[in-house]
Order: sequence, then structure tokens, then C-alpha cells
Amino acid sequence: LRLEMQNSEKLRVISELTSVFAHEIRNPMQVVRGFLQLLNEPGLSDKKKEYIQLSIEELDRSNQIINDLLSFGKPTINNNERIEVGYQLQRVVNIIQSYTQNANVMLKTDIFDNCWIYANIQKLNQCLINILKNAIESMPNGGVVWLTCNRTDDGYIKINIKDEGIGMTKEQIDRLGSPYYSLKESGTGLGMMVSYQIIHSFNGKIQVYSEKDKGTEFIILLPQIM
Ligand code: ADP
Ligand code: MG
Repeated sequence: LRLEMQNSEKLRVISELTSVFAHEIRNPMQVVRGFLQLLNEPGLSDKKKEYIQLSIEELDRSNQIINDLLSFGKPTINNNERIEVGYQLQRVVNIIQSYTQNANVMLKTDIFDNCWIYANIQKLNQCLINILKNAIESMPNGGVVWLTCNRTDDGYIKINIKDEGIGMTKEQIDRLGSPYYSLKESGTGLGMMVSYQIIHSFNGKIQVYSEKDKGTEFIILLPQIM
């Protein structure tokens, strides 16, 4: 009997579990967080205040894991929605702009019209948000993130996400997408795993170019609807 799971089996199990549970778990967690904040009254002992603070931080960490795995909407297995990529990119930019804490990061877009693909909107958004979040997090002192899309000569829609952040070594690039691989203090190491899986489920390709202390570029290629 082999108890060890292959990476691909792990990915499948993780993705099935999250599709089922992620949405249901978030609401009760918000309720618990609210009550914890109410408990935090001025007269409490330092010990009790500390326990409440730690509980809230742990809840926030759980929420981060859920966000990396599944940000939007109900999950669906339909990968055949007709999607105009430019329109979706603009929506994702609006979401990420309201969400990003780092005011020094500027998001710039250059979007080609009429780029159509078959995909799943929720999953595409999830993937783009995970990659954009990493791009923003890679520039603690601010900078520009470029998000562009256009058509290639050989039938693909090309989405480009480029930052001027801390970059990665070759070894780091090679490990990208393995479950729980993270170099961040409170990272989940799930965002890239999910993103790679999503792009493959669309029969797309994802490429990474990165240079330490220079920046990183993700290129997503998705079959164009002719
Ligand atoms: P997390 O963001 O929670 O750490 P991810 O799966 O999203 O997990 O990313 C895994 C790791 O890949 C990150 O911890 C980081 O080291 C590296 N990484 C991903 N994107 C970038 C980027 N744009 N610039 C630099 N490093 C990155
Ligand atoms: Mg991430």
C-alpha cells in the first residue's frame, strides 16, 4: 500500500476540497472575528487582549488561504464561457485597486480590443488576482505593475503581467507552483499552484521570466477563439 500522494493527486484533492468548502467557511469566520472584536474591551488584562489579538490574526491567516485558493463566485466546472479578455482585465484591475494597501504601487494597462477566449470567468479572475497580488507584494517600496493583453500571430491571446519587484533566482522560479512553496513571512504558497492549475485547465501556457532585484514577468497564453 502506497500512502504517499503524487503531486498531481495532491493538486486534484486540494482543488476539489476548496471548491466545496471555501465559500461556506468564510461567513462563519467573519462572524467569529466580529465577536472577538466585541470582546476586546478596554478593561481587559494584557494576557486576554493578547489572546484576542492572536485569534484575530489566525483568522485573518485562514482567510488569506481561502483568498489565494478561491476569490470569487461559486466554483464551476464550465471552462467554455466566451470571454472578452480586455473587459475581464479591466474588472480585475478595479478589484485589485480597491484591495491593494500599497498606495505606491501603480497599475498600468495596455489592452487590445476583441481578444476572445473560452474559459471560466471566476477561475480566470482568481488566477490574475493571485499573480497581480504577488506582483504588488514584490514591490514593498512601490513601483509599476504592467498588465497588457494582445493577440499573437499563432492563435493565442497573450496576457502579460510585469513588475519591477524583488525578482526570483532560477531555483525560485523552478519551485513556483509547488504546494506551500512561499518565501513570505505569512504567505500561503498556494496562489501560484492554483494559478498554474487554472491556466492548464484552459489549455493555456504560462511562462515566467525573472531576474533577482530587477523584476518579474508572467506571460499567459490562451487559445484564441477564431
Ligand atoms: P505566497 O504569495 O502566499 O507566498 P504564491 O504561491 O502566490 O504564495 O507565491 C509563491 C512564491 O513565489 C512567493 O512567496 C514568492 O517568493 C514567489 N513569487 C511569486 N510571484 C512573484 C513575483 N512577482 N516576484 C517575486 N517573487 C514572486
Ligand atoms: Mg501569492
